[in-house]
Amino acid sequence: MFTKILIANRGEIACRVMRTAKKMGIRTVAVYSDADRDSLHVAMADEAVHIGAAPSRESYLCGDKILAAAKQTGAQAIHPGYGFLSENAGFARACDEAGIVFIGPPIGAIEAMGSKSAAKTIMEKAGVPLVPGYHGDDQSPAIIKQHADAMGYPVLLKAAAGGGGKGMRQVWSEKEFSAALDAAKREAMNAFGDDTMLVEKYLTQPRHVEIQVFCDNHERGVYLFERDCSVQRRHQKVVEEAPAPGMDPALRAAMGEAALKAAQAINYAGAGTVEFLLDIDGSFYFMEMNTRLQVEHPVTEMITHQDLVEWQLRVAANEPLPLTQEQLQIDGHSFEARIYAEDPDNDFLPVTGTLSYLDAPDEGDYVRVETGVRQGDEVSVYYDPMIAKLVVWGRDRDSALRRLQKALSEYRIGGMTTNLGFLYNLVSTEPFRAAELDTGFIEKHQSLIFQNSGDHLERFIPLAALYLALKQAQDAQALAPATDQHSPWNVADHWRTDGSRKHRFAINVHGEAHALLVEQTGSGAATRYKVTHAGKTTTLQGSLCGNQMVADMDGHRQKLQVNEDNNHISLYCFNHVLDFSRTLPDTGEADDQSLAGGLTAPMNGTLVAQLVSEGTEVEAGTPLLVMEAMKMEHTIKAPAKGTVKQFYFADGELVDGGALLVDFEVARAN
Ligand code: ADP
Repeated sequence: MFTKILIANRGEIACRVMRTAKKMGIRTVAVYSDADRDSLHVAMADEAVHIGAAPSRESYLCGDKILAAAKQTGAQAIHPGYGFLSENAGFARACDEAGIVFIGPPIGAIEAMGSKSAAKTIMEKAGVPLVPGYHGDDQSPAIIKQHADAMGYPVLLKAAAGGGGKGMRQVWSEKEFSAALDAAKREAMNAFGDDTMLVEKYLTQPRHVEIQVFCDNHERGVYLFERDCSVQRRHQKVVEEAPAPGMDPALRAAMGEAALKAAQAINYAGAGTVEFLLDIDGSFYFMEMNTRLQVEHPVTEMITHQDLVEWQLRVAANEPLPLTQEQLQIDGHSFEARIYAEDPDNDFLPVTGTLSYLDAPDEGDYVRVETGVRQGDEVSVYYDPMIAKLVVWGRDRDSALRRLQKALSEYRIGGMTTNLGFLYNLVSTEPFRAAELDTGFIEKHQSLIFQNSGDHLERFIPLAALYLALKQAQDAQALAPATDQHSPWNVADHWRTDGSRKHRFAINVHGEAHALLVEQTGSGAATRYKVTHAGKTTTLQGSLCGNQMVADMDGHRQKLQVNEDNNHISLYCFNHVLDFSRTLPDTGEADDQSLAGGLTAPMNGTLVAQLVSEGTEVEAGTPLLVMEAMKMEHTIKAPAKGTVKQFYFADGELVDGGALLVDFEVARAN
């Protein structure tokens, strides 16, 4: 076994790998960029090596710098985690040439799965079922269309070099085909420099079910059952579970055997995942194989009670697999929910900021919080906006689900918008409880998942007003001169001769302004607050102590937590959070620079399209350009009325997060 390994990654997966290495008595070396100097994965490691600037192209994607760090520290092996260099055959080869073990499959296996078309050809030969379609070398549009027509619509066009949903187009009828093919080819050429296409039957209600496989260097392989990853937004997973609900033993064995056949067809070794689409009639089809550890591997660990990172290390050190197929059993049920810094109400747009408040549920045998951040850390534009993975286990699906709901409702994150409320709502819907899963789950059940936003605002705004009134009184108290307790300046209850005390507050919730009137009557513990908002009046009583607020609204007593940081206020109540800010008076100091915030790249990504030409005068809100980042398209809009002087990047160019995209001149008011 190795005595020292380097982890060529960051965030939660770097921490996850280190935990196992420590348990096994293996020393760990972290690598870090400028942005990660003080991050958790660096603190956890025995040694850490700086490898460059924040953009991953200058650090985590630099194979040469990482290899130099391994040599410098005497690490015998490199664990690539997921993403970054984990499926880069060139890096695996460079490790090999440097005499350092790449903790992953053989180079040939990575290469074989690099192209979707080539992978399908290999799988076809190995007898693994494929989605009906065409993945041949003849790329003439007429031939591709002929195959699409023959199998019948809808069909799905995919880029052979694809990943992350890029170069993928659904085509619903023959007459849309040519335009869709052109668009998909263009997108693929931009993203991968290769526009080879394949076409598949588009399954309208499939489930995404994947099999975890493991092979060693002694010609043995096992499958560690399946994960259901059907709950996706924009073809990206958000909630995963194992085992897949409703899976019968015969289907499980058939899919497991097919996955092993796929792995053996490419002489696999190490951890791999074979992704299938499972159709409503029980047919399953090979989609692709990921030649690395998956984000969602913990659900498999929870139901098999195995440590897959330990398995990876053992296999890489040429040990045999720890267990045989017969020794592997499924015990209970597990869920994983991915907690992201993103705004579900704004098309899941990633957000950035400082994690000013972080209070995760207690961990134990049944609840795992996989994270790479601590309170005070940044979620920056440079990397994936995932904050944590919440993983739970239960005896059966219902008990695991109850644990997931409870843990989600207890998770508190302040300083930025997250998908916590969305996740809670999603897993609390009746169709989710009933496991009515398919890849369209979120779209199909939108009205149930997003149902609360309106009501939730109505319920929360009086609580926000109560907080503002209590906080104002508390602040006034703190400012009062301590020397004279009887000074009238110490009375912070806004006493007026007419008996009632009025406060007006203006707050901003999700970019919308709300005016609140709070009328205060009575005094001490009996103080009542009558809140009027949008013509509706609510009466409350309450108290504030530290970050704990108790509120009594129409006889309903609730405990809330509040976090206030730099005028960003988060009010947490059970599974909900209301984020708002006080509207600050306009001091007239805002300058054009403050508008640049809206014109910078939200993440590392690619410029997809410029929507207006240079020199155009536009109104506020006019879409100016489209960027693709974090597998999603973002439209950058004009922050004010003005002129687009110059675009700093051309279509298809890679852009670093935070980079200014446009030279925009704001029109001067006369
Ligand atoms: P990428 O590698 O770009 O992420 P995949 O081939 O892995 O693309 O597919 C991503 C997702 O797209 C799948 O999980 C599934 O939801 C959907 N998908 C892929 N192929 C099909 C198909 N033939 N029919 C229906 N949905 C599909």
